[in-house]
Amino acid sequence: MKVLVVGSGGREHSLCWAIAKSPLCDALYCAPGNAGIADVATLVAIGAEDVDALVRFAQDNAIDFVVVGPEGPLVLGLVDKLNAIGIKAFGPSAAAAALEGSKGFMKDILAKYGVPTAFYGRFTDADAAKAYVRQHGAPIVVKADGLAAGKGVTVARTAEEAFAAIDEALIDGRFGAAGAEVVVEEFLDGEEVSFFALCDGENALPMASAQDHKAVGDGDTGPNTGGMGAYSPAPALTPDLQDRVMREIVVPTVKGMAAEGRPFKGVLFAGLMIVQTPDGPTPKTLEFNVRFGDPECQTLMARLESDALAALVAAADGALDRIDLRWAEQTALCVVMAAQGYPGDYLKNTEIKGLDAANAVESVTVFHAGTKRAEDGRVLSVGGRVLGVTALAPTVAQAQAAAYRGVDALDWPGGFCRRDIGWRAVGR
Ligand code: AMP
Repeated sequence: MKVLVVGSGGREHSLCWAIAKSPLCDALYCAPGNAGIADVATLVAIGAEDVDALVRFAQDNAIDFVVVGPEGPLVLGLVDKLNAIGIKAFGPSAAAAALEGSKGFMKDILAKYGVPTAFYGRFTDADAAKAYVRQHGAPIVVKADGLAAGKGVTVARTAEEAFAAIDEALIDGRFGAAGAEVVVEEFLDGEEVSFFALCDGENALPMASAQDHKAVGDGDTGPNTGGMGAYSPAPALTPDLQDRVMREIVVPTVKGMAAEGRPFKGVLFAGLMIVQTPDGPTPKTLEFNVRFGDPECQTLMARLESDALAALVAAADGALDRIDLRWAEQTALCVVMAAQGYPGDYLKNTEIKGLDAANAVESVTVFHAGTKRAEDGRVLSVGGRVLGVTALAPTVAQAQAAAYRGVDALDWPGGFCRRDIGWRAVGR
């Protein structure tokens, strides 16, 4: 097969790395990719959201299968356009990607099909939204309906904070069209975990759990980021809870989407809160994403022992019943290295050295995100999140130690990382 991967993050590097190992893969392209991806795929200079140019490239180059990494092109209908000209793709249609593209739509689906989640209201009118906040009291959560690059959610400790978030979205238009409607929902208290399942429109196959670290600073302090590290599996999601997540959340959602005439194909990434109730720990849905998480994907690909490409193709073909996924029993842990200043204004074009030394550390793979190769061969940082130093080891403590040996083998004064990725799991 000739395969095209769309995206340029650590997620896409890990997907390319896994797909390149498949005997089904004859040629691998990535648009736009990065300096690390260039080692396993041919880079194509087309942006991930330039949907028409991607379709043209796939057609002109007889691509057999397209794997879409980020949510943007999914919501823009890349998979629909590829399918319309007979090219297979991994990822949902635009109609099914609404599970991530509209939080209001997602909440209505959960309510209709009885999937456990926070109670909520949908509002386009600020006064009505504020009345709902007054009725239920703080803490309470305000979410812009559409895609807002991870900045659309406010966990409000007080009613005033909630009012401000409502005004920002509905009156000031901070998120543009994405914030023309808000969801106001119950605050859920508990431990957050992520769970990933492959879906083929009818069936769902459990993949694995993961936990990430959103805050920029050690001890989960400071502003939120796209993710400063992750590990898989998440010990908080016991096998018992994982069965419940499949039974109570993933399967009813996939069946519900099929019943709605929006069959969901691709990976369903469930953001879950494990809430302590009188009946014991109970998983509730915080959000769905319609693609792999980054950095979580790096830990999943590090653990996946079976053929990644075969599994992704089966999801697109509606044939997941043929697939049996095997996972390393070990823990994969990813430490993200970001450019100094991130998540604010960050340094660009600083040289990264020591990549070979870091990759030579036992059990470590360095996945690239915001990197490019200069004409003179040097690797430069060009993004906020730049590298994912990922280790696979028998225990989470050993994976953590190995990942930081990888970090310490790098020579990159322009970058930084958290030093405590995995602390919660190590402490268990
Ligand atoms: P979302 O994009 O909807 O997952 O929200 C981003 C983050 O906000 C989540 O990862 C949670 O940490 C937090 N969050 C979202 N919804 C809730 C909720 N109902 N209760 C508590 N925290 C939440």
